[in-house]
Amino acid sequence: MIEELRAKGIADEAVLEAMNTLPRHFFLDSAFDEWAYSENAFPIGNNQTISQPYTVAYMTALLEVKPDEKILEIGTGSGYQGAVLALLGARVYTIERQEFLYKRTKEFLKKLGFKTIKCFFGDGTQGLAEFAPYDKMMVTAGSNSVPKILLAQLKINGILAMPVGDAKSQIMRKITRTGEHTFETIELENFRFVPFLKGVNRIDTK
Ligand code: SAH
Repeated sequence: MIEELRAKGIADEAVLEAMNTLPRHFFLDSAFDEWAYSENAFPIGNNQTISQPYTVAYMTALLEVKPDEKILEIGTGSGYQGAVLALLGARVYTIERQEFLYKRTKEFLKKLGFKTIKCFFGDGTQGLAEFAPYDKMMVTAGSNSVPKILLAQLKINGILAMPVGDAKSQIMRKITRTGEHTFETIELENFRFVPFLKGVNRIDTK
């Protein structure tokens, strides 16, 4: 998997090392064991997916994570992305709108011993104001716009990575808060994420 990520252009050694350490198959249904290290997204329940390794590596590298930084991940899903951030030394706050996934992943990350990841159930379109501001933020679901409320929860010099576009395809944006009222946006590659949805869902659809 790591060699494939290098071949695709991921050059951040710290990110590659974190992903090399973390067993991706732990985060998947055992039915996918054989393919756990391939460049694929897989279903994780509630109609959601774990992102493919390249997407995780790409977004993580964009955040330029430094030890002890406070990072908000929106879209906990399987917990894999949050675990990669934690392995890089970040203090991770992660929020999920699907109650079933929130509960399952919270327990699972605890079982794995991740003490620096805090899981929350709620609507991430509002960010997580209680613990703001954040050094870095990432939204792991696709949206047609960047909610202003998220930008307001970013520290000055902080970075937000988020895919923006329609349901079929989104362009990754790297947004740096350069001042109280100023932001710099870079548009990068195309990705395809599950949709960034408002509100919460308490139903377990498996
Ligand atoms: N980072 C995850 C990827 C999961 S897919 C991983 O590593 O596995 C994206 C996740 O975002 C889904 O679980 C979806 O339910 C969640 N999501 C979508 N809209 C959301 C919102 N408004 N608030 C919180 N989570 C949201």
